[in-house]
Order: sequence, then structure tokens, then C-alpha cells
Amino acid sequence: MTDPEARFNEMLALLKKRAFRLTPQRVELVRLIAVSAGHPSAAQLYTKIQEKFPTMSQATVYKTLALLKEMNQVLEINLRDDSHYDGNRPGAHPHIICTKCNQIVDGELEIDHSLLKKLEETSGYQIVRPQITFYGLCPNCKQKA
Ligand SMILES: [Zn+2]
Ligand SMILES: [Zn+2]
Repeated sequence: MTDPEARFNEMLALLKKRAFRLTPQRVELVRLIAVSAGHPSAAQLYTKIQEKFPTMSQATVYKTLALLKEMNQVLEINLRDDSHYDGNRPGAHPHIICTKCNQIVDGELEIDHSLLKKLEETSGYQIVRPQITFYGLCPNCKQKA
């Protein structure tokens, strides 16, 4: 995990350069994205931010995420139902998802770039965003099972 405070400041600086209007609501949203505790979805971020800023609109959450994505500052994890976001580590990395409670954590595994190259050669595709996901039981659910 990257130091959340460092990621927060980095993202704020980049957004300032893009002349993004940093209202207190948006700053709080960027803070939540920088920490990315549990790799939240847009809906989860919206629920969380509403605890502090009840007037925050859902559109703002989506717009901010879209901008950060365009700037390569969040990693989007596409799941069956929804997209989840990691603003703490925007570079490609594997994830492990609990099939019982849906908790998402980082898989501490280096992505092997020679494998990606091989995949490009055999498929003819140019890989732009590798998404590697493992499913399993988190330690908590494993204990209960
Ligand atoms: Zn679990
Ligand atoms: Zn992650």
C-alpha cells in the first residue's frame, strides 16, 4: 500500500493543474479515493461521502472518478455488477476477492511482463490494462466456514 497521505497530495496537485475546482466535498472525496480502503465502488464512495456532506451529488462522484481515470490516477476493477476503484495504487496489480463477503484486497504479486508480451504475441492484441483477479475466501470467512 502506498502512503495514503502522499497519494492524496499527489492527486490534489495533479487535479489543481487540471484546474479542477477543489471544494471541501471534492477534497474529501479525493481523500477517500487516495486511501481506497477495500477498493470501493462509486456507489460505496457516494454513501461514505454523504455521511459528511449530505448535499454531495452522485454525479460529482462519477465525474471525479472519470477524470482521475482519464489521468491514470485510479485503477478501475471491473466486476460483474459494478466497477471498483483503487486510487492508492493506480498501476496494474492483481486483486483477490472474497466470494462470501466481496472484500477486495491487493494481491502482493508482481505482474510478469514477459507473460503479457507472450499474450500479445499469441493474440495479436496490444494489452493496455491487465486485470488479474483471484477469487477465494478471506481469512475472516475462512475461519467461519
Ligand atoms: Zn470474506
Ligand atoms: Zn488494489
